[in-house]
Amino acid sequence: MNHDDLRQWSKRAADWTHEYHHSLRDRPVRAQTQPGDIAACLPQTPPEQPESLETIFEDFTRIVPEGMTHWQHPRFFAYFPGNAAPASMLAEQLANSMAAQAMLWQTSPAATEMETVMIRWLRDALGLAPHFTGTIHDTATIATLSAILTMREKALAWKGNTAGLPAQPRLRLYASTQVHSSIDKGVRIAGIGQDNLIKIPTDAHHAMDTTALDRAIRADLAAGHRPAGVILCVGATGIGASDRLQEAIAVAKSHGLPTHVDAAWAGSAMICPEFRHLWAGIDGADSIVFNPHKWLGIQMDCSIQFLADPVPQVRTLGLRPDYLETLGQSEITNYNEWTVPLGRRFRALKIWFTLRAHGLEGLRRRIRDHIAWSEALATAMASLPDVEIITPPTLSLFSFALKDGDAATEALLTRINDHGQIYLTQTRHQDRFVIRVQVGQFDCTREDVMTVYQVVRDLLYG
Ligand SMILES: *Cc1c(COP(=O)(O)O)cnc(C)c1O
Repeated sequence: MNHDDLRQWSKRAADWTHEYHHSLRDRPVRAQTQPGDIAACLPQTPPEQPESLETIFEDFTRIVPEGMTHWQHPRFFAYFPGNAAPASMLAEQLANSMAAQAMLWQTSPAATEMETVMIRWLRDALGLAPHFTGTIHDTATIATLSAILTMREKALAWKGNTAGLPAQPRLRLYASTQVHSSIDKGVRIAGIGQDNLIKIPTDAHHAMDTTALDRAIRADLAAGHRPAGVILCVGATGIGASDRLQEAIAVAKSHGLPTHVDAAWAGSAMICPEFRHLWAGIDGADSIVFNPHKWLGIQMDCSIQFLADPVPQVRTLGLRPDYLETLGQSEITNYNEWTVPLGRRFRALKIWFTLRAHGLEGLRRRIRDHIAWSEALATAMASLPDVEIITPPTLSLFSFALKDGDAATEALLTRINDHGQIYLTQTRHQDRFVIRVQVGQFDCTREDVMTVYQVVRDLLYG
């Protein structure tokens, strides 16, 4: 295959893409294959001789779509959304056409400079204070890991990276019981250890009990441990819990501790001023992560970390060996120094395309619709006699269960997803098995959302 073939096949792929998207409503949302089904369709060994693109493409259409769970399906209500607006897909194709490596300013000046401007656009769109800068990571997991590594190095006066951890005091981090597992993963990888992530209990609103936070920090200081930072959440994954940032950041600051806020999902909703009360006090945070690849329509992978001051993170993660120097440009921004991997894709392009193609007003309208439809759906679901709303909508996420108990709820969820018209997933809340519903798919309509009510009603009483 050469570039002339690529031209032809890109057109075929564009036609296929168009058909695929228009066929989504007729496909089951969750893949209906069994483990091993797809692997069994693939030969055990690679071909010795080239095969024709015709054959390869035909195998793709025959084997792959069947084995996919369709995240762009308008009736995808599982996990959190993984949206890809067409404008963002187009930008990805163009970035792919140049296939550049954006590790240094010099290796792709447009990628670096556009990244700086897009961070500023998003900061302003979310109503954050003008002192924030930031960078684009692949995922929130890596953004949070970067923040935790920075907390570690700051607490160890930058000695962890050089001397290693064994000789250092025992570090402690604090987060509520509601935070995402990426925080647990971060403390593990950072060498701080799961046992040193202190999970602070939550109050009746599922927010961190800040009195308990203060008590835990004081107890650790008295025991000779070294507190290193506090991690807060806005719109956590399970049921959408949020900490009261103002209060929690004040406690952290009273002990001189940095804070990182995980708003991976809910951050996108902050383009609407009326939801910003959920993160009141955010401007006091040292680090914030949010994923435009969830609710804003800017496709995987696109995770934004805002930083009040990038210097500690660059000091923690930045290395500039001789072969990565840009001659004559020692002051230049090299975004690899702000994150873990050296290699980076040109991710700013899809932000630029998506924000321009929709405008902030277009994106706000979608988010407002999703939230209103989620509320309407929760109200309808509450009218079913066997259904109990366990947590009411936080933004567009709510959860429900059957009054009959966990086994009945779990059996219902299996039937819902085998049925295929909608896709929902579960979590545990206060020791109960609950079904989560989040509304956020870019192309969904009110009718798609109300299908959840119809499917559950038909399965229960049909
Ligand atoms: C989705 C999510 C994450 C993890 O995001 P990745 O980008 O997949 O690493 C972390 N925290 C919250 C609150 C999330 O919703």
